[in-house]
Amino acid sequence: MVPVHALTVDVESWLDTEAARRRSALLGEARRIEEGTARLLDFFSAHGVRATFFVLGRVAEEAPRMVRRIAEAGHELASHGWSHRPLQELTPQAFREEIRATKAILEDIGGREVTGHRSPSWSMGPRTLWALEELVAAGYRYDASLTPGYAWLWGTPGIPGGPHRLELGGATLLEFPNSVPRAGLRLPFAGGFFLRAWPAGWIRRALRWYEEQGDPAVVYVHPWEVDPAMPRVRLGPFWSFVHYAGLARMEARLRELLQTCRFLPLAELAKLLPADRLPVVRLAPPVQAPAGGRDARSRSRHTARPATRR
Ligand SMILES: [Zn+2]
Repeated sequence: MVPVHALTVDVESWLDTEAARRRSALLGEARRIEEGTARLLDFFSAHGVRATFFVLGRVAEEAPRMVRRIAEAGHELASHGWSHRPLQELTPQAFREEIRATKAILEDIGGREVTGHRSPSWSMGPRTLWALEELVAAGYRYDASLTPGYAWLWGTPGIPGGPHRLELGGATLLEFPNSVPRAGLRLPFAGGFFLRAWPAGWIRRALRWYEEQGDPAVVYVHPWEVDPAMPRVRLGPFWSFVHYAGLARMEARLRELLQTCRFLPLAELAKLLPADRLPVVRLAPPVQAPAGGRDARSRSRHTARPATRR
């Protein structure tokens, strides 16, 4: 049987990334979000595959026709927040407003309920787990934001590598974490910089680990990663490496994945999962929001404790 994984897109401009977003010198640069998104849509259509598109609310406001085209092609629309500011920069109230406004505009454009969310730049971690309760309260049913082990910018060690149920007091949220290898260096392998930069053999091996466990991996890509006309600017040595490394091979890497595996949008994959046999992670109460914004340095009272039930 052909293994099934999840294909996801974070619909944002290259100017929204951590590499570029704070650089005022780039303010006049072209966002080129529609070009990259159109290229991905054509690419997926040629391979007969459907994906989850995590769209920024701001992008939906700026380019509603593009977002409608994504939905009309049979892809799932889900929320990537409104502004692409990492959770560490948002107060709980600002986060609440972002996820509610994004859900509303995407449902308005797509005509279907939006049930999924991914935080900007994988920024949900042990100190921002309060955001999970906000997601439940806003009507989301799954999240795809946490990274087991070490994340790019933030990580949540101790959570399972495959889909699991997060229990928050009386509520439950399905979590599709960022895919990391089962052993060795537990860094992401299935999307963005990592999909471009790791050796192909390492990615194949990590994917096989998921398949042996019967878990779907979560592949992710950004429109700017397949846009050959993305402006090349100075971002400093570190961010230039992260932003530009391996871009020329991104489409080939995606093509190999699309040709060898089956993919589904996350909401459809969620329906195929054995809900009663998923690992459960209980977030110890009280799950409460910090008093103010910029909580990265504040002490969190959350603990993520993977349960043994499987
Ligand atoms: Zn993003």
